[in-house]
Amino acid sequence: MKDHASQTRQRHRRVVVLGSTGSVGTNSLEVIEHFPDRLEVIGLSAHSSWKALFQQATRFRPRWIALSDPEAERQADLSLLPIGTELLTGPDAVARMSADSDTDIVVAAIVGSAGLAGTWEALSAGKTVALANKETLVMAGSRVTELAARRGGRILPVDSEHSAIFQALAGQPNSAIERLVLTGSGGPFRGKNRDELKSARLEDALKHPTWKMGPKITIDSATLMNKSLEVIEARWLFNLPPEQIDVIIHPESIVHSFVEFRDGSVLAQLSPPDMRLPIQYALNYPDRLSGPAKRLDWSSLRALHFEAVDRKAFDALDLGYQVARSGGTSGAVLNAANEAAVGLFLEGRLAFLDIARACRAVLAQHPFSPSPSIEELMAADRWARQEVSRWIRQTSPSP
Ligand code: MG
Repeated sequence: MKDHASQTRQRHRRVVVLGSTGSVGTNSLEVIEHFPDRLEVIGLSAHSSWKALFQQATRFRPRWIALSDPEAERQADLSLLPIGTELLTGPDAVARMSADSDTDIVVAAIVGSAGLAGTWEALSAGKTVALANKETLVMAGSRVTELAARRGGRILPVDSEHSAIFQALAGQPNSAIERLVLTGSGGPFRGKNRDELKSARLEDALKHPTWKMGPKITIDSATLMNKSLEVIEARWLFNLPPEQIDVIIHPESIVHSFVEFRDGSVLAQLSPPDMRLPIQYALNYPDRLSGPAKRLDWSSLRALHFEAVDRKAFDALDLGYQVARSGGTSGAVLNAANEAAVGLFLEGRLAFLDIARACRAVLAQHPFSPSPSIEELMAADRWARQEVSRWIRQTSPSP
């Protein structure tokens, strides 16, 4: 009863969802719709899917929406916009929604490096950010965490592994932690050796065994680059050295990660693979409420498997550890090189194993800077994309 009273006393939370038409964005809206007394959509943003965005606007009646693609902005039929919703235009639209004094929480669900700006603005304004965009921490982890601390902003992880660790930690100090163990499904190519991966096909890489996600992160799951980026994300989010972060393959995607404490106790978070749970945990934090996410069916759950990563076949993982150790501009470079390489793979212009190969080559060439500004990070991002294009022109494909 006490719980219920404290929950109803909770102020209404007004939420801005950046990247609302993507996979995490639409799941966020489902969660928000489930808690009409607690959560309210105040702003939505999308890149170019204006029709989907306008439909969401009609359903949720936010105060603002924003399109980041100027071409989509020109095409959009404003007569379809509900009364009371304003279409914000121009480069500052996302910043305006994120920093408004009426905004309580910003869901950062824009895919890729394009997600950094919105997260940055929200943390600058001291907001709570439900962070689904791991690239923000991969690119600019030291800057972003320092900004959050300085401005009183808070980052709540939405990435399922980091949400699991955050929940298992339950406020314990870092001195209590032996190591964090990130679990990964292993993706569609789990069990394949390096030779077999040479001829890996795009349509197979897009078949993720347990999670339904967008194409970029699905390819990252197949290469294990996703886990690589998550090691970097965990390094910044929990302020721990990479030596205390491990990765293990867990094909069922039920145990979303665990924390091993100094005393040998291991705490984990379990649930079916369903993004709505980590989203709901972040949006309602610290309360645990009955929500729309799927439940574990203990009667059909037979076994949980764990196995070591084949580091030779999935060598993208080494790059994450390398970057988590070096910091500086290397995260922005790895992230951008990977985005560019995955883009080329999706177009059929790069072999599967060449994704990590291109990233390694670009990382090795890059002029490292130990404490870059945001502008320098954005420049490193652009440089790495160009280097991938150059690499593909100059390099013969993997034998
Ligand atoms: Mg994840």
